[in-house]
Amino acid sequence: MFDSIQWLIGIIKSIRINDIIDILIVATIIYYLLKFIIGTRGWQILIGLFILLSIWLVAKILHLPTIEWIFDNLWSIGIFILIVVFQPEIRRGLAKLGERGLFRYSLISKKKAIDEIIRAATFLAERKIGALIVFERNIDLENYTEGCVKLNAEISLELLISIFIPQTPLHDGAVIIRDQEVVSARCFLPLTINPNIPKNIGTRHRAGIGISEETDAVALIVSEERGEISLAVDGKLFRDLDPLTLRKKLIEVLEIEKPDFIGKLKNKLFGKKKWKK
Ligand code: ATP
Ligand code: MG
Repeated sequence: MFDSIQWLIGIIKSIRINDIIDILIVATIIYYLLKFIIGTRGWQILIGLFILLSIWLVAKILHLPTIEWIFDNLWSIGIFILIVVFQPEIRRGLAKLGERGLFRYSLISKKKAIDEIIRAATFLAERKIGALIVFERNIDLENYTEGCVKLNAEISLELLISIFIPQTPLHDGAVIIRDQEVVSARCFLPLTINPNIPKNIGTRHRAGIGISEETDAVALIVSEERGEISLAVDGKLFRDLDPLTLRKKLIEVLEIEKPDFIGKLKNKLFGKKKWKK
């Protein structure tokens, strides 16, 4: 017992500040890698790899020579297979890093962006102008942006209103929001085929529900017929929301109040208890 305590103290004493920095950097990289991969095609590939690794371990333990031989040879070319398979994800990840920097997003601008969107939705609803705004969450919506008009513009009340004004080139279809940007407009989304949805619900709402079923995205729909604002989350439609309820719901589903890894670390290091609103 005493020996183990001494051994533990020995280890603690031998930890240098460099080791802590080293561990923190590696932990941050792993955190962002996992965050980037979860929900994408890469996540399924990672699960597949884990299953292969388990088979390989079982083969090693039970001494199954053929499987062992296959896997021993597979690992050496595995890294190249991985680079080829993950090529789109790697390209996008590096582009994102170069474009924006890893830690660009702040809580304040996320809330400001939400407020701009809610003001735009309210403005449009009051005038019975239809709109469909999709928020990307963990699952990448890149596949749905093909055929859209790319914008990559900062979210603003004026921009959103201008997009949905009828008879303008961008008003038809959906807008896709990623972080604080309007990524693209005039996107065509999959329609839900849920038979339980009332017959009087049209295609704009069906497209919003459809994307929230196929992915983890959240869709805000402004109805031009009824002038009401709805939110589609996980295939469910929350109808006729007033601005306050809409804001509460968006903050909840987009997890805006939850500090991220760096936020939590800052709180721990500098003792900041509460995040600015
Ligand atoms: P509203 O209450 O505004 O009338 P709705 O649910 O009744 O909405 P429609 O009246 O059919 O729906 O709305 C048609 C509009 O919805 C189209 O002009 C287009 O802008 C949009 N829309 C229809 N299908 C899609 C789709 N698959 N993806 C994106 N937008 C779509
Ligand atoms: Mg309609």
